[in-house]
Amino acid sequence: MKYLVIADIHSNLEAFEAVLEDAQNHGGFGHTWCIGDVVGYGPDPAACIKLLKQLDPVCVCGNHDSAAVGEIDIGDFSSEAAKANRWTAGQLSDDDRGFLVGLPKLVVEDDFTIVHGSPRQPVWEYIAHTITAEDNFRRFDTPFCIVGHTHVPFLFTYDGAKVCGSVLRAGDMLVLGDNRLIINPGGVGQPRDRDPRASYAIFDAEEMVLHNYRVTYDVAATQRKMERAGLPDFLVSRIAWGV
Ligand code: ZN
Repeated sequence: MKYLVIADIHSNLEAFEAVLEDAQNHGGFGHTWCIGDVVGYGPDPAACIKLLKQLDPVCVCGNHDSAAVGEIDIGDFSSEAAKANRWTAGQLSDDDRGFLVGLPKLVVEDDFTIVHGSPRQPVWEYIAHTITAEDNFRRFDTPFCIVGHTHVPFLFTYDGAKVCGSVLRAGDMLVLGDNRLIINPGGVGQPRDRDPRASYAIFDAEEMVLHNYRVTYDVAATQRKMERAGLPDFLVSRIAWGV
């Protein structure tokens, strides 16, 4: 069975559709794991929720998802993120809100713990450094953990002695074996590793390998929609730079 692994769609329909098409070109998938932040920042929250629901995913809750339905305070958001979040809240139907409210914070699927931020703080904590990863390896029981939130495709490896971090690059094939891993597939809708292409992964459970992929999408089309919606300029420009 193959799993599409997607994080941080962030209401970017063009990026999301490009990922789905690209995944088909890489052999397709039977299941979807969505690592949270379906909405926020981008111009198509309702359409992204609708498309995601068609995939019948296992999906966990991100901080932007929680904020859009008023479950967490946006006081810690940047002013741009907060403005986009208030706009997002106004775009959601009751069904959309119901979907987001119902998302769990942490899911265990076979050998994987799935969580947006970290096992220690599922919605908020960024695992961006080895010291944070080291603390979090003690907070889950499965061999592997998949996270999002940083929008950077990254891998932390724990071999029983020490934790190492490494960037996941487009085309990388990761063999899952004895080492425990924290895997971040990168961001679909707002990558932040200076590569504007949408980032995602496909996990092949039979071969026990995970492939990281990048795909270009029509950034200008998304930007035009954001401008029409009156979303903040910084959010419009950053998706062209991948920052
Ligand atoms: Zn995010």
